[in-house]
Amino acid sequence: MSPMLEKLQALDARIVAAVEAAGRPRDAVQFIAVSKTHPVETLREAVAAGVHTFGENYLQEALDKIAALGPGICWHFIGPIQSNKTRPVAEHFDWVQSVDRLKIAERLSAQRPPEKGPLNVCLQVNISGEETKSGVTPAELPALAQAVARLPQLRLRGLMAIPAPTTDVAQQHADFARLRALYEQLQRDGLALDTLSMGMSADMEAAIAEGATLIRIGTALFGARDYSQKAPA
Ligand SMILES: *Cc1c(COP(=O)(O)O)cnc(C)c1O
Repeated sequence: MSPMLEKLQALDARIVAAVEAAGRPRDAVQFIAVSKTHPVETLREAVAAGVHTFGENYLQEALDKIAALGPGICWHFIGPIQSNKTRPVAEHFDWVQSVDRLKIAERLSAQRPPEKGPLNVCLQVNISGEETKSGVTPAELPALAQAVARLPQLRLRGLMAIPAPTTDVAQQHADFARLRALYEQLQRDGLALDTLSMGMSADMEAAIAEGATLIRIGTALFGARDYSQKAPA
């Protein structure tokens, strides 16, 4: 078996164990393969092993990979977005998980090519209250969500968060539970959301226990990232 298939099987076994422990069906949790810093050959191996959904953080690197891999792949933008870089994001991605202010959302909606259909978006929430982190605050989330939901070329799908890294499992649960509570409140407020994007290689079990529908997996599939090779753009 190829090393990539082994990694995928190991990931699937972790997801299966976590959904079973939580009493959730297997198909309640999907993953995206977070391929930032990894070369296009590595993505091709993943495609050959059956992966068709990737997450990328750095725009130019992502555009190169999108051009190299061609059609049939679903691309999620998950990194910080500068307002002068919204057009290529709107044109080349299927999802943007890192929307955290209305100005960016408005630009993405205006710049989305109509023939591509609405761009799927998640709002990134600053769940740990870190001052430097991107993400809308929980207090500002409801107004932003209602405004984004009205934009014609966007389809608001849910929420995303990257909590402050911790090995304290109770803290992981607390952070993810807070995001889930915000998500459920927006649903009660009438928004048709279906995506709760939380959990990465190190904390996917806690995220799945707390209701994640989408986990973002880099290291567990591709190994450690080597940032010395390439300065992130
Ligand atoms: C890099 C990254 C991931 C993947 O993290 P791993 O710990 O390598 O699984 C997930 N989400 C976001 C937003 C990232 O930037």
